[in-house]
Amino acid sequence: MQSIPFHKPSIGSEEIDAVVETLKSGWLTTGPKTKEFEAEFSIYLGLKHAVAVNSCTAALHLALEAIGLQAGESVVVPTMTFAATAEVVRYFNARPLLVDCDTTDFNLDIRDAGCRIEQALERGEKVRAIMPVHYGGQICDMKNVQKLALRYGLKVIEDAAHCCPAYYQMNPGSSWQTVGAASDICCFSFYANKTITTGEGGMACTDNPEYADRMRIMALHGISRDAWKRFTADGSWYYEITAPGFKYNLTDIASAIGIQQLRKADAFQRARACLAQYYTELLADVEEIVLPTQRSNRLHSWHLFVIRLKLDQLSIDRAAFIAELKHLGIGTSVHWMPLHMHPYYRETYGYQPADLPNAAELYPQIVSLPIYPGMTEGDVERVVDGLKSIIGRNRNPKLGRGVVASATMKV
Ligand SMILES: *Cc1c(COP(=O)(O)O)cnc(C)c1O
Repeated sequence: MQSIPFHKPSIGSEEIDAVVETLKSGWLTTGPKTKEFEAEFSIYLGLKHAVAVNSCTAALHLALEAIGLQAGESVVVPTMTFAATAEVVRYFNARPLLVDCDTTDFNLDIRDAGCRIEQALERGEKVRAIMPVHYGGQICDMKNVQKLALRYGLKVIEDAAHCCPAYYQMNPGSSWQTVGAASDICCFSFYANKTITTGEGGMACTDNPEYADRMRIMALHGISRDAWKRFTADGSWYYEITAPGFKYNLTDIASAIGIQQLRKADAFQRARACLAQYYTELLADVEEIVLPTQRSNRLHSWHLFVIRLKLDQLSIDRAAFIAELKHLGIGTSVHWMPLHMHPYYRETYGYQPADLPNAAELYPQIVSLPIYPGMTEGDVERVVDGLKSIIGRNRNPKLGRGVVASATMKV
């Protein structure tokens, strides 16, 4: 039987044709296609500026540069995130102030964030920004993120790597708004396994023209925009370096893919939501797992479908569980080992697992199941059958469920 990978990108003839057309056009690096991708992305999001870059990591780095993060300052980062969110803070020799996660949606725990900001201030640190990550594509408690930002004078930079698209209502019954609507800068990823992809790629979006200008300049060697315009528009050879910038521009080949993917983003989201719904139906009666929580005032991108194993009801651990799924040809992943448990952050800041207890407790329980638009209902059924058979063979014998079952049968 064919295996079910953890992820398969949805690339159609539209993307392939667009790449061929771009290759034939003779313009391979940043040019008209990238301009078009940025324009379509900013309209899609309803934000004024979209700066295309070659990764979300680059976008996050440029965002922190644009707000003027300084060495020695602190930035609030959830521990339950990917390497990128915190490493960009370290690029400035600034400190990622790791905060714990909420155990229902795995997003940043607002109360913990408040406590840790207070502690940092008591230590005399300057806290400059907060970087909420919308875990799996479900927007975090942005209303209270904004409150914190207001109270402590923080810039808000969203790591929206999972959120193309994601929407929310700030208050129950209020109007729906997109990710990025309530922050200073919002960063997206088009990595190969994200909701839309360009292979590698990212976008930094903002309504603030100064941030947008600065990010554009710094994404391309610090060459000033006006100079760059002169350089490209009329073929002039002249340009000026205004700062030691980076090399983060997106190619037209990638942008050609991105334009086509963006046009399918809503359809991809609907396909993922259907798969999530089907998983939820089929797994509802499996007592040994906890299904993902969907908040009522959210439109979830369903980038990830993460289950929790109730390890006390099983005789195997997560690693064995994943190995058994792999044996059945089913790919999975883990999002993530919390940052504070990785050697670098442990050793640099002296974190113990229990310092951020929710994340540390969740980590051994979480498994991300396959979910991508090309998945069929039959694929979901196979994953679920696999899960159920593994659980059936590995129930914790101490709970005595087997005994109860056979006793009932005798009667
Ligand atoms: C994938 C991911 C990133 C990094 O995206 P790249 O485009 O690969 O740089 C950042 N943050 C989160 C939460 C991610 O999942």
